[in-house]
Amino acid sequence: MSWKQEPEYDEAAWEAQRDALLEEVATLAAEINPHYGAPPLSEVTLEALRRVPRHRFVPSEQRRYAYLNQPLSIGHGQTISQPYIVALMTDLLALRPGDRVLEVGTGCGYQSAVLAEAGAEVYSVEIVPTLAEQAAARLAELGYHRVRVRVGDGACGWPEHAPFDGIIVTAGARHIPPALLTQLGPGGRLVVPLGEAWATQELTLIRKAKHGGLHTQAIMPVRFVPLTSKGEP
Ligand code: SAH
Repeated sequence: MSWKQEPEYDEAAWEAQRDALLEEVATLAAEINPHYGAPPLSEVTLEALRRVPRHRFVPSEQRRYAYLNQPLSIGHGQTISQPYIVALMTDLLALRPGDRVLEVGTGCGYQSAVLAEAGAEVYSVEIVPTLAEQAAARLAELGYHRVRVRVGDGACGWPEHAPFDGIIVTAGARHIPPALLTQLGPGGRLVVPLGEAWATQELTLIRKAKHGGLHTQAIMPVRFVPLTSKGEP
């Protein structure tokens, strides 16, 4: 078999790999989350990850690596995030069923699917049109009808569907786009990697109190591709 051919896994084999990944992610979270003041991952989050076929979200040449706890390239200079980080960011949103969540940076749509499996109604904005189209088609094919994807600059949010109970930015931002703070509802949570482009960012949780006050908590260092404007860093 040439290195280009993907191994012929059936669904049961993919599921076994996914279970092993889930074990790894849960163990890692139990070990390191307490150091960062984050709780161990909730059952809701872990179950959501268990239900999403990550191998369907990565390009075929990467598929054999789909269940490694690693980010992978999805083309267009972009990545699918590391499963542990997807789980952590989902968990930090502390979702309740039916919560309305804005995602900035759809990429391949994996995080959107995890949010939907965790009970959210998802509005996801992607700046690269091809990625948005592919993600929307993939999510529809997999039956994720509670995810809506549109092309645009996610820094502007999606005002027609605001206020949001949760906002998740899956690209590194130098500062919090003001529109996102406006579109975050009272009691809402915003998770964003804050820092310079192509450097380490600080994964940050912002909570908006019922009266509108903001509480900011730095969680842990992470590395994301940069949030761009019109596709340029
Ligand atoms: N959420 C993805 C990770 C995506 S990587 C996952 O599930 O794996 C970050 C994505 O953000 C890229 O697809 C990139 O094109 C997109 N992006 C960068 N700047 C953006 C912006 N201003 N608005 C919307 N999407 C943006």
